[in-house]
Amino acid sequence: MNIHEYQAKALLKSYGAPVAEGAAAMTPAEAEAAAKMLPGPLWVVKAQIHAGGRGKGKFKEAEAGEKGGVRLARSVAEVREFASQMLGNTLVTKQTGDQGKQVNRLYIEDGADIARELYLSVLVDRANGRVAFVCSTEGGMDIEAVAEETPEKIHTIHVDPAAGYAPYVGRKIAAALKLEGDQVKQCVKLMGQIYKAFTEKDMSLLEINPLIVTAQGNLHVLDAKVGFDNNALYRHPDIVDLRDLSEEDEKEIEASKYDLAYIALDGTIGCMVNGAGLAMSTMDIIKLYGAEPANFLDVGGGASKEKVTAAFKIITADPNVKGILVNIFGGIMKCDVIAEGVIAAVKEVGLKVPLVVRLEGTNVEKGKQILAQSGLDVIPADDLDDAAQKIVAAVQGK
Ligand code: GDP
Ligand code: MG
Repeated sequence: MNIHEYQAKALLKSYGAPVAEGAAAMTPAEAEAAAKMLPGPLWVVKAQIHAGGRGKGKFKEAEAGEKGGVRLARSVAEVREFASQMLGNTLVTKQTGDQGKQVNRLYIEDGADIARELYLSVLVDRANGRVAFVCSTEGGMDIEAVAEETPEKIHTIHVDPAAGYAPYVGRKIAAALKLEGDQVKQCVKLMGQIYKAFTEKDMSLLEINPLIVTAQGNLHVLDAKVGFDNNALYRHPDIVDLRDLSEEDEKEIEASKYDLAYIALDGTIGCMVNGAGLAMSTMDIIKLYGAEPANFLDVGGGASKEKVTAAFKIITADPNVKGILVNIFGGIMKCDVIAEGVIAAVKEVGLKVPLVVRLEGTNVEKGKQILAQSGLDVIPADDLDDAAQKIVAAVQGK
């Protein structure tokens, strides 16, 4: 789960991190009120969407201007003007895809005087089984480009989970960032606060790009992006409260209500599979035969008829789906139950695209029989290879 920049900053602030004053706004009037609470003479109007690259982004609508989703304002009136230009319009950045994201919230912040822009992120390094700080003197810009062109400018510093964070970790980071004097002390303190926030809140990624040195020589968090480990959300109701459903894929929200593991993709074959491994193999074999999956969907080991029906509805609601492949191994789940679920779902939502069903495992004969006798236009398949070839041929009109 991801949160907005302003929420991430409030969270970091609660751990003591140096963050500028600011307030969120949903309307131009709220933006103006927020600006009036801040001292000036510089204000920053920032589009709050779950995607980075806002500064260099472009709005689709002409009235929003050419300036992107992070704008510096010199007066309260200008804050209001920028706010009315941005709100309700669609911002396209490197990370949003061509369709962009609608800006529904803004963050109005006290503008900083920047001397240096640095990069810092914290992540779980799976290869090492450790939390890693990744930092670079080349902040503010596209870190992927830095990694590609000048990888020696990116430093990774691991934290031993048994020892936890210690000041020497912060000093190593300070050295990598070429900080001096009091900035080193500030860095040691800030990294400790960040590490505490990261581990206590079960974050999976925290990215501060840029972390700045102000003209006064102080470290400041200028941008913040935070993602949380979904498997740990049950113990953080305060974090769940920050969820902004308008930023998430509707199909994924629906799937999460039924506890289905669903990820929307951009191909044409909708997949309903049980077990993550089988789901991945199914996606692979679809690609092998020349088509692309429209989703990853794992209905789980012991899925009920209700779950199968919900999954089927989610798949058929996707206009990109030109064919459906149901590939279920009946282990804990019985094939006849799946067959009944599929039939119930088809009867409820209708079937406008070819449907290939491959069942294997417990009660497979019974399941196949139920499908055959249903009178529905289901294409049966015997094994995975057969199923993939049949659905690919069907969507390609062969
Ligand atoms: P992003 O483009 O989505 O990553 O948004 P950021 O919050 O990182 O802002 C983009 C850029 O805007 C930063 O790298 C800064 O150069 C600039 N910027 C943001 N806030 C301020 C500010 O308070 N003062 C100044 N001078 N520039 C800012
Ligand atoms: Mg940024």
